[in-house]
Amino acid sequence: MMRILAIALGGLVVLTLGCGGEKPEREGGGMEMKKNEGAGIAGLSVEDQKLAREQKVCPVSDEPLGSMGTPVKEIHGGRTVFFCCESCRKPFLKNPEKYLAKLK
Ligand SMILES: [Zn+2]
Repeated sequence: MMRILAIALGGLVVLTLGCGGEKPEREGGGMEMKKNEGAGIAGLSVEDQKLAREQKVCPVSDEPLGSMGTPVKEIHGGRTVFFCCESCRKPFLKNPEKYLAKLK
């Protein structure tokens, strides 16, 4: 009995401390996806993770990067752009200026 409780508590502590570096910073968003947000970013290299976190959302779908798995990377005019998934790359390539403008 006690052992099961201890394991459960231990897991809780690990979970709580596990994402200590990530502060929830949201501005007026209504969606409750915090848990999935950015999970797929972990599949990128450390450098790409940094860029993807700065970009935050897919310019095509406006979904948080990493919410659909590892973001898709594209280098356009010397600039690195990430999409939430492969199917967002095509509309971007058709009209890159439109989507780059969204990213500023
Ligand atoms: Zn997408």
